[in-house]
Formats: sequence, structure tokens, C-alpha cells
Amino acid sequence: MNQATSPHLFSKFKPFRLFSSINKSNPPALAALPSHRPDPTSNDFEHERGNADAIGPASFAELGLSEWAVDTCRELRIERPTTVQSRCIPRILAGDDVLGIAQTGSGKTAAFALPILNRLAEDPYGVFALVVTPTRELAVQLVEQFRAFGSSLNLRCTLVVGGMDMLSQARSLSQRPHVVVATPGRIKVLLDQDPDLPAVFSKTKFLVLDEADRVLDVDFEEELRVIFKFLPKSRQTLLFSATMTSNLQALLQISGNRSYFYEGYEGFKTVDSLEQQFVITPKNLKDVYLFHILSRMEERNIRSVMVFVSTCRSCHLLSLLLEELDQSAVALHSHKAQKLRLSALSRFKSGQVPILLATDVASRGLDIPTVDLVINYDIPKYARDYVHRVGRTARAGRGGLSISFVTENDLDLIHEIEAVIQKQLTEYKYEENAFKDDLSMVFKARRVVTMKMVDDGFEETARERKAQKLRTLSEKGLVKKRKRKERKVAA
Ligand code: AMP
Repeated sequence: MNQATSPHLFSKFKPFRLFSSINKSNPPALAALPSHRPDPTSNDFEHERGNADAIGPASFAELGLSEWAVDTCRELRIERPTTVQSRCIPRILAGDDVLGIAQTGSGKTAAFALPILNRLAEDPYGVFALVVTPTRELAVQLVEQFRAFGSSLNLRCTLVVGGMDMLSQARSLSQRPHVVVATPGRIKVLLDQDPDLPAVFSKTKFLVLDEADRVLDVDFEEELRVIFKFLPKSRQTLLFSATMTSNLQALLQISGNRSYFYEGYEGFKTVDSLEQQFVITPKNLKDVYLFHILSRMEERNIRSVMVFVSTCRSCHLLSLLLEELDQSAVALHSHKAQKLRLSALSRFKSGQVPILLATDVASRGLDIPTVDLVINYDIPKYARDYVHRVGRTARAGRGGLSISFVTENDLDLIHEIEAVIQKQLTEYKYEENAFKDDLSMVFKARRVVTMKMVDDGFEETARERKAQKLRTLSEKGLVKKRKRKERKVAA
């Protein structure tokens, strides 16, 4: 791992200690681990690299999990631990702080949920674990997974996210559930505003930062400070991420005591079972190409599709357009009320609707096995987002396809993505004049939709949201920082 860290990050995170300060004993279960090789260059943490395809221990029982947990895995048809699970579960059971980096879809959630629940079952109380994740949809998914893994325990798991009733969340927290899954903003507000709530977390044993690279972004700094302030120092901290960033590297360096670092990927990797294609399209014909592909999904045995766009506005616009073209689709973006976001996702997940249009709010972590195709309607600005987006398909060893719409303005971006993933995308094949039949239909629908957009109040909501976001950022003193950061990344 490159140990170079930014001094800015270093000082940013120094005031709150990421990892706990107690010395950990060596885990008894470690004896069962294959090829356990500490990194000889590091005094502070133990660093192991792993091949995602490597064969680990044959069973969950060998990792030190209790019988009930092993039985639950079997019931969920999870028979054999993945590498991230076989490396991290024994260390978590033994009391270590862990940073696990592994490809999206490699079973990271079970890698932390199973050992946490195992420890909880030995000494049940609440709040035992706080799990923080960047988006509301991921938080919902995590609650579902904790409930599934804890189905034989009387598990009480609470969801604390924005856009939903805060009073009932506060009430639910005061009843001390075993596991709390939260987004950073809402848990911060509750801890700050309700004087009774900090006590609820005074004995919390585990803090998990899921999608840790995102949670540790500068926008969440203030929220994390509050969370860290109220959690006991003696807790275990578990960070899981699909991508290694300078933030995580900086944190590792200042972890200051023995913690365990599992790195199960080399750079930004996409899985081999994913076929990655591109199609060169004029900017003003992207919607025609999209309609052409979506209206032929059945012919190609594609069960469901996620279409990623760069803004809430184009997400909304495309959803109106597809509706006008009789394509059954739902949209997920941050200008939508949370109830509508959740209902859109659940209709898509259950197969009622085969197309999900989304901004990057849905690019990370969502685990929907029926997604056979990911379309990048807009090419993401950062290669890291590309990796997360296409990771919504070809999960857990299955196949999948991604198609990226490349306009002449996107050529540099797509070359950058290819360089980062170390793969070349192949060209999507279509017959000459294939889109001709769709042109007039899409153009007609476009005209209707442009008028609908004027009337349906979206623009007004968007303006209000933007103003609110700017206010929040400026209250946090982040307006300049963010601009500086964007310039730095662009450079
Ligand atoms: P995650 O990376 O946590 O989003 O998990 C991706 C998918 O893999 C989920 O559907 C899990 O239920 C599934 N999964 C987790 N662990 C295993 C395993 N050991 N074997 C097979 N599938 C698994």
C-alpha cells in the first residue's frame, strides 16, 4: 500500500481517534486461518492482501462463529465464506479493529454483521452496535441484512435516516435497540438535540463505517465528530469499503495501535464476469439510444436494468420520458421524498418494475441479484463512481453487462476509466439504422415531457433543495473547501 498521506487529512482526523486504544490479545481462532502474514513494514497495523477468488476455510464454523450463526448462513444459502469473510470474521470476534477493503459484491456485510451478532448473542444489550452508511437506501438494506442474519435472535434493529419521522426514531432509540443503522446527518442531529440519547450509546461495543471511503469524505466531518464524541473509547471500530482512498490511508496511518487491515483487491477492479461495453452517441440522441435498448430488453433476456444519470433533473426528465413511451420505470434521486425513494426501490427490487433510473445515490452497495444490465447514460466524473455503478450487476459470481453512452465530450473520461480499471471497453454492436424507427416516437415524447416539466413543480423543488444544500454547506464552512477539492481532483 502506498503510505503517502495528505497532511491536510492527517490533521483533519487527528483530533478524534478512529480506532480504540485498548491492546488486543491474539485471537484463538487465528490458528485456523490459512497463510496469516503480517506486513513486516508496519508497526501499527497488520496488513494482509487477499485474492478475492482464493479458497478460504471451508466453513463458517471454522471461523469461530456459533452454531446458530452457521445454521442461519446455511438457511440463507451462504455455504462457504468468501475471502473477506474468512480473513475478517475471526479478527472481529477476537476484538480487533478492522479495515476491510474488498470488491463490491464480495460479502462485506456478512463479514461484519455475523461477528457482531455473534458477540451480541453472548452478551445481549443495546445499543451494542452503531452502523453508519452514506445513503438512506443502503441503511435500509443493512437493516434487512442484519434482520436476516439475526433471524434466530430476538434482534431489535433500528433505522435512523433523514426524510423520515425523527420523533419516532428518537423514541425507538430510547428503547435501546441492539443495532442502530444510521446515515451520518440524522444520527448527528438526534445526538446533538436530544439530551437523553448520548447515554443510549455509552456502552456501544461496535462502530461500523460501511462504504467508509464515502463516510469519511469531508462533507461528513462534522457528523463524524459528534458520533465519535459520544461513543466509548473502548469500542471496536470496523471500516469496510470497496475502494481505497487517501482518507482511508491517512486513517490507517494514524490508527496508532494494532489493528487489522485486509486488502482484497488491487486498485479499482471490476469483476471478470462483467462484460463492459460502450456506444458512441451524439448528445441529443442519448434518449433515443436508451429507448432502443430498453424496449428490447426481453429479447436479450435482461431481467432488470439500472440506468445512471448525473443529475436529479435528468433523472426526473427521463422518468417522464419513459412513462410517455410506455416503459415501466421508477426513479431514485435526492429531490424525491424519502417515502417515494423507498417505494421506488422496493418496486424495482421485487421485480414489479424492470427499470430503475438513478443518480449516484444508488451507485454503491445495493445488492439486487436480478440486475443484468447497468447503463451509464451519463459517464461519471470519477472512475471510482464508475466502478461502484457497474458493480450493481455481475455480483456474487454471476454474469452481467454494462453499456456506457459516450459522447464526444466524454472521450477523456472514458479513457481515464479504462486506464484505472485496466480494461478496455468493447463497442456495443447494433445494426445500421437501428435507431431510425425510434426517432420520431422519442422526439414526440420529448416535446410532451418538456411541457410537463414546466407544470409538475419539479423545477421549484429543485431550486429550494439547491438553496437548502448551499445553506447547509456554507454553515459547515464547506463551500470554498468543496470548490478547492473539485479543482484539485480535476487537476
Ligand atoms: P455484499 O458484498 O455484502 O453486498 O454481498 C453481496 C451478496 O453476496 C449478497 O447477496 C449476500 O447475501 C451474498 N453473500 C454474502 N456472503 C456470501 C457467501 N459466503 N457466499 C455466497 N454469497 C454470499
